[in-house]
Amino acid sequence: MKAKKIYIKTTLTIIAICLLTVTVRAQQSFVEKYNLPLYDCEHQQNFIMELKKVTIVVPDDSTAVWSRVNMYEIMLTRGGVEVSIKTESKLQESDFVGNIWVMGPIADFSHWDKFDIPVEILNSSFKIGKYSFEEPSYGFFYNSRSGVSPVRLATSGNSLDAYIQTANMLNFGFEYIVANNAIPELIGNGSHIADLNALRETIYTLRESKYYTFMISKNLPEEELEKINDDEIRNYDNHIEAFVKKMELSFPEKKIKTYFHATQEEICHFSNFFFALCRGTVWGNVVGDEIHNWKVGGAIEHEANHFLFNQVNKMAPTFFIEGIQKWYEYTVNAEYKESGFQKAREFADEDLTDVIFGRVGFFQGDKYYLISGIFTDYLIDAYGLDKFKELYKYETFDLLQGFENTYNKPLSEILVDYKKWLLP
Ligand SMILES: [Zn+2]
Repeated sequence: MKAKKIYIKTTLTIIAICLLTVTVRAQQSFVEKYNLPLYDCEHQQNFIMELKKVTIVVPDDSTAVWSRVNMYEIMLTRGGVEVSIKTESKLQESDFVGNIWVMGPIADFSHWDKFDIPVEILNSSFKIGKYSFEEPSYGFFYNSRSGVSPVRLATSGNSLDAYIQTANMLNFGFEYIVANNAIPELIGNGSHIADLNALRETIYTLRESKYYTFMISKNLPEEELEKINDDEIRNYDNHIEAFVKKMELSFPEKKIKTYFHATQEEICHFSNFFFALCRGTVWGNVVGDEIHNWKVGGAIEHEANHFLFNQVNKMAPTFFIEGIQKWYEYTVNAEYKESGFQKAREFADEDLTDVIFGRVGFFQGDKYYLISGIFTDYLIDAYGLDKFKELYKYETFDLLQGFENTYNKPLSEILVDYKKWLLP
């Protein structure tokens, strides 16, 4: 018995090491090929643990930054970090000796020079190395590197929106990341800076369809490239039309920029999912106004649905982002919907409040995907799609009020009604 256990443990360790080796080697070859700064996975992983104590600095008169500041406060506190939050004018000399995290739009702070962050700050724009970023859509994240003390961090940008977009990304492995509408354009460690826009032009070829501008990686193998034929592209366009009609949305104003990446390194670098260079697999995502897929086809229909429903709100709670997605998939596949009902009934006694509010992790296999689709089906069945879209406009921190305003009922009552509907 004992011997068997040891055997299993050893096998697992070997598998884990192999996977890790492959991942690291792959990142390095990509990084070497294009002379990119290396993402520091160790720092990404240990950063919060090593921080211990931090003062978050917010502007003196900007209440708009608070929702993101509170999100970070919760994350850091959970990770064992002692957090204090101060407005800029309340900072004392002693605070500058410790770790500081500046959070807010550039123009809302008066004395950037005091923060000691190596980003050149102008009125409401900034410069890193020889690169200037002047449009309101540019945000930056600065993170002093492993071993530097005191730690300096800044989540900022040329507008409130750029700041918020930047605050939504959790990539601690580079010293600098500059993003334009959440799309990364520059990454850097010290003086080693890479222009990702120039690299986009090197790696990808363009192809247009009715609704899409495809960016196709030159590094894709021939058998993948063959999948991009006229029939396939017509299917992608038809899918857009079917979804827009069913969900009563508008057609996209511009063609949707959609990438087919050859490798995990490509999708992670160009979609702001750098943290996934360290572990996991990214199949597809929607970032800013772009769709990213790993390989040809990839998760394109799933991600296009997210992209299109973003018209209603980009910042909806995950439970409803995936819930409305599943609801659509159920409408086109009755058998799949039946499996959703089975899952929802199996867990009918579970109080969904915690997962709706993100206090329980959503991504646990397909369990909550299936259940969120059935709960969304209940809401739409009972109150209609328009009402659901009203609810969808609320972010998690506002959601309790959102249920009251939309359905004139508290969530607790709606959950009771849902259970009756689910188990007639
Ligand atoms: Zn999804």
